[in-house]
Amino acid sequence: MELFSPVTELAGIGAQRAKQLEKLGVRTLYDLLAYFPRTYEDRTQFVCIRALEPGRPACFEAMVVSEPRTAHVRRGMDITRVQVADETGKLTLTFFNQSYLKDSLRYGESYHFYGVLSDSYANQMANPAFEPAERAGLVTGRILPIYALTAGISNKLLIKCVQHALAACADALPEILPEDVRRRYHLCPVRLAYETVHQPANRELLAEARRRLVFEEFFIFSAGLAVMRGQRSRAAAQPYVCAQMEAFYAALPFSLTGAQQSAIRDILRDLASGAVMNRLVQGDVGSGKTMVAAAAVYCAAKNGHQAAFMAPTEILAEQHAKTLSALLGPLGVEVVLLTGSLGAQAKREAKARLADGRAQLAVGTHALLTADVAFSDLGLVVADEQHRFGVAQRAQLAAKARTPHLLVMSATPIPRTLSLIAYGDLDVSVIAELPPGRQKIDTFLVGDSMRRRINAFIRRECAAGHQAYIVCPAVEDGETDTLKSAAVWAEALQRAVFPELRVGLLHGRMKGHEKEAALAAFARHETDILVATTVVEVGVDVPNATLMVIENAERFGLSQLHQLRGRVGRGSAKSYCVLFSDTKNADTRARLKALCATNDGFAIAEQDLALRGPGDFFGSRQHGLPAFKVANLQMDLATLQQAQQAAAEYIRCADDLDAPGLAPLKQRIEALFEQSDVALN
Ligand code: ADP
Ligand code: MG
Repeated sequence: MELFSPVTELAGIGAQRAKQLEKLGVRTLYDLLAYFPRTYEDRTQFVCIRALEPGRPACFEAMVVSEPRTAHVRRGMDITRVQVADETGKLTLTFFNQSYLKDSLRYGESYHFYGVLSDSYANQMANPAFEPAERAGLVTGRILPIYALTAGISNKLLIKCVQHALAACADALPEILPEDVRRRYHLCPVRLAYETVHQPANRELLAEARRRLVFEEFFIFSAGLAVMRGQRSRAAAQPYVCAQMEAFYAALPFSLTGAQQSAIRDILRDLASGAVMNRLVQGDVGSGKTMVAAAAVYCAAKNGHQAAFMAPTEILAEQHAKTLSALLGPLGVEVVLLTGSLGAQAKREAKARLADGRAQLAVGTHALLTADVAFSDLGLVVADEQHRFGVAQRAQLAAKARTPHLLVMSATPIPRTLSLIAYGDLDVSVIAELPPGRQKIDTFLVGDSMRRRINAFIRRECAAGHQAYIVCPAVEDGETDTLKSAAVWAEALQRAVFPELRVGLLHGRMKGHEKEAALAAFARHETDILVATTVVEVGVDVPNATLMVIENAERFGLSQLHQLRGRVGRGSAKSYCVLFSDTKNADTRARLKALCATNDGFAIAEQDLALRGPGDFFGSRQHGLPAFKVANLQMDLATLQQAQQAAAEYIRCADDLDAPGLAPLKQRIEALFEQSDVALN
């Protein structure tokens, strides 16, 4: 048997079992070895019968002292009972619907058992695991691996298959980690690691084996990022001349903050360097990232190259197009908007202008990079609101657009841990400063009993000439009416609560031009209140809005709430955020209270990570994060940092992955990134 032999080569695995195993992603012996336990059950503690405690599982050795008897209780239910004893006491074991066990429990013979003493019936235990004392060690007296299962595949079967596979080909497992890395970070050899995670002798060794596998996983991931980054930064670019920026600075309606200036300096240095830029600009909501991007676009245009500016939604694209053409148009940079809901005629016109180079900047959604948009000379891609644009998309972009400069902008301050993961292939500039004059947004958590007072507050803000957002969670089909759907809620508010005010509506299912019209009306102050779903979450900029009301706030993540709150406080007037929630869940309340306590996006992001975990933080898999099998982003931060460092050094020396010895590493990198559609070329 070889490492990549199909599982059918194992005794007891026929075509049907193989099919069932395939549901677990297991096709080869290697897959089986890499199918790590979900958790473990410590069955190492043996006690005597008298020392068994209700509710606490334990192992014990006992002799069968009665013939097993099966009673037929009712249709579909039999109970098999047997008595066992040691020198300290006697116990009745009951098995439900397992009358076949009768034959494996023999009168007068000794067995090892593992189970929990009933807390309702004295001296009884239901369904213990057991095995003959002289051949024990598979299900008792050990740390038992617990695997995720599927129909037809029991834990016991997996344990046995893994055992066979280990015996047959543990030697053949390739050692991915270079020896000096293993020595420096005290990591055990690959074979020992695999044997131990499947058959741990004790907790200490298990922890060591796990650490090695986590390290390996992060090493592979980091090496992959380092390779991508190396490929991109070795890609030469014609150096831009960045000395002609005065006209741009002079055209700005305000002076840039120090943080904006320093981010722009980083970018211009990249563009002038002769290597391809891969930069992330990270800055809290409202820190003024758009202008930083505009500087990059201007520089590209002055050097005769085009730029593409991608926003996550059409609404944002429209808004950016407006801002950027107002600023850059007078400076001789022609801006076109290109979105899906544009009419055919306008679309054709915009494409033609990009194709022949009349337009220097295209603003749109990610669809901008689809095949049928041709640029005459695309030099720079800006991706706004980076958290919707992951590693995978970046790699695709690099492949598609023949290595233009890339600038990504994140509105979500991501905790350091995750930024290593999500942006490991990028250089980072942080804008840790807001434009002057911004005030703290006061935030309140209220229950429905405050409804009338909040309504009065909305009325007062609007009477003072300001505007308000009311955000409802997206309602999915089948959900109850305790959640407020934006459309229904908007109508009810207009009719019954605020007849004297103008209530607008904006939600994701509206057509492109309807959304645009709703947002434009709000921006022009033709509506006072905008009832919306989270389509207003990122980027929407209406400085006259001073009040953000969020319904069912418990439905949102902290970072999302922070983004929503960032829609207000964009002008000079004092702004407020009201979170409606009647949730009784203590964790959720703590989460919402945390938001009331601070305006600092980074602090909130750290909290969000701690409270909800990285999966939720990124929403789902759509962000191009690979799925780690062993590693846990919260627990394994220290290991991540070590692995990252080791991988960076290693890849620097290795230069590329085509050396023959590196084939296994390359394979593993490709396998890891494949799930997120990243290709290494
Ligand atoms: P972000 O994209 O980082 O959330 P924006 O680029 O949308 O922030 O900027 C938020 C608001 O602040 C905009 O109205 C913008 O015109 C304004 N702004 C940006 N930079 C400055 C500055 N240096 N001084 C004053 N206002 C600024
Ligand atoms: Mg923005």
